[in-house]
Amino acid sequence: MNRSMMRLRNVFFVALFLLLSCSMCFADGTLYQYSTIDSLLLGNYDGELTVAGLLEHGDVGLGTFNGLDGEMVLVDGIVYRINKRGEAETVTSASRTPFAVAARFKTDSILKIDNVTSLEDLNRKIDSALGSENIFYVVRIDGEFGSVRARSVPPQKKPYPPLVDVVKEQGVFKFSKIKGSLIGVRCPAYVAGIGVDGFHWHFITEDRKSGGHVLDCSFANLPAKVGAYTNFLLQLPETSDFLGADLQKDKKNELKKVEKNPGSS
Ligand code: ZN
Repeated sequence: MNRSMMRLRNVFFVALFLLLSCSMCFADGTLYQYSTIDSLLLGNYDGELTVAGLLEHGDVGLGTFNGLDGEMVLVDGIVYRINKRGEAETVTSASRTPFAVAARFKTDSILKIDNVTSLEDLNRKIDSALGSENIFYVVRIDGEFGSVRARSVPPQKKPYPPLVDVVKEQGVFKFSKIKGSLIGVRCPAYVAGIGVDGFHWHFITEDRKSGGHVLDCSFANLPAKVGAYTNFLLQLPETSDFLGADLQKDKKNELKKVEKNPGSS
């Protein structure tokens, strides 16, 4: 091999290295969030952000509505409200939210998931396949699920009780052999207090008629599309309730009860 060929070979290896390292980095994508999870836990259930405003930031996501009137699922650019009976309905673009997350969905990787026996099992399996736990992810799983257990919350009247009290009255819905979409958002542990650290899943059936905040699920052989996001855009409410709220207390334990709600099995 002469010198020029060696130089060419070295250039090739450098190019290959750059290509490989580039495919491992997460180029773009913004996860948008309105308000903080601790503000919602506190009982700040009225925000200024409209559904139209949320849709400017993405076509996939989750959250809730003013007055805590149901669970929000944003899928394929359409916002659905899951009411306290588990029924999904579309909402007007003027509807408002006190807490929501949205992103433009992108598929950076597809994970083949063989068998999932519980939500914890699903979270563990996705976690073990992620490149890093320190960035944000949106995950979408479409197909037929063996089971999904979901909940929704009833609308609240002022003075609003904290979320941990509201979930005691939640409706829980069990679906078996159900076709639909799981929409998951995964935030790094270091955003605790701002976002839901770890996974947060909402579900909507394929016919878009029911769903909810996911408490448990099981399925076999479904692909999980994963989008990685390195930009996090947090928009804070300017309501007097938010501006005057005492957000100093750690609410990790309250969040655990709200997210997993061990009382309803
Ligand atoms: Zn939720």
